[in-house]
Amino acid sequence: MSRWITKILDKIGSPELDWIQVEVSTRCNAACIYCPQPLLYKKQNMRFGLFKQLIPYLGYTNLVYLQGWGEPLLNPDIFDMIRVCKAKGKRVGFTTNGMLLNKETICRLVDLETDILSVSLAGTSPATHNRIRRGTDLVKIIENLDLLQQISAQKGALRPALHLAYLMWASNFHELQEVVQLAKKLGAKQIVCSNMTLIMNETLCSEAIFTRQEKQQYFVSVLEAIAKEAQKENLIFAYKSPVLLDKSVQCSENICYSCVVNVTGEISPCVFTSPSLAQTDCQKSLLHIFQNHPSPCYPLSFGNIGKENLSRIWNKKEYHRFRRFHDPDITKTVIDPQPVPESCMSCYSSIVGTSF
Ligand code: SF4
Repeated sequence: MSRWITKILDKIGSPELDWIQVEVSTRCNAACIYCPQPLLYKKQNMRFGLFKQLIPYLGYTNLVYLQGWGEPLLNPDIFDMIRVCKAKGKRVGFTTNGMLLNKETICRLVDLETDILSVSLAGTSPATHNRIRRGTDLVKIIENLDLLQQISAQKGALRPALHLAYLMWASNFHELQEVVQLAKKLGAKQIVCSNMTLIMNETLCSEAIFTRQEKQQYFVSVLEAIAKEAQKENLIFAYKSPVLLDKSVQCSENICYSCVVNVTGEISPCVFTSPSLAQTDCQKSLLHIFQNHPSPCYPLSFGNIGKENLSRIWNKKEYHRFRRFHDPDITKTVIDPQPVPESCMSCYSSIVGTSF
């Protein structure tokens, strides 16, 4: 088949995505106590050559998010990756632990007009944050974000927009009440609160706020009050409900309009099914705790971007079947119930309430 016919065929049926998430590194300079990253078999950076294989498919999305199970700033090619995406007119963002944001890095990110810089928090006091996000230091992170504000002001830059990504735990929930003031001080535009939906260790089960059913009314009322405070300050406050549902519904991770490319180019629907979560090179899975029982993670790849076209991967029968289960429009109209994909049977993302 001639190349142009192949190109046209690939365009037909190409996905329309809200974002493509790309894991640019599985290395990390921290050791957060809830994160599976220290247990990963291979810690590596995505090769720039592999990243470039994505260029023909950037037209399928407006946003490229450079994030996986690792610290993106440890990949020295991240600046070239951002440059490539911006040259194609895409919005680009990533989430960082904030420790590597020195003057040179900030200047490069600002000059590249990086759109979103999200910084992970697990508390608003150094004692709480540093206990959970081991290897990071909230005092240093705040210093770095002050520098970001100064450099942005000097350059008259409106980008990157700073987002604060707050991981809600039972033991840090009370500190969330300070997050609006912290965001205001740092010039952040958005606060995003998430649940700990992948629980790697049974000692952490009680930290997931959705397992504290007796306190859910309290959690919801605090979140609603913070949302009101944030609105007054012109800040976006997005949060995942801490309410646990009785049975599985559709995935709350937008998997019908996004995909994840892992560090070696494998395409999966979400980070929880990423082949990066394999413990050995023979793909033995990591265990996590789901409803008090150890349960394997299910690495899942529908194809590799280094070998196949994204449209073709997206349109494979098995990927289609997988999305079909989670597609609210399809499942509402069919009579026969779809079987729950094995990987989703033990995932909190399908039974914890949705975002607000
Ligand atoms: S419900 Fe399934 S698709 Fe959704 S996040 Fe969980 S494992 Fe991934």
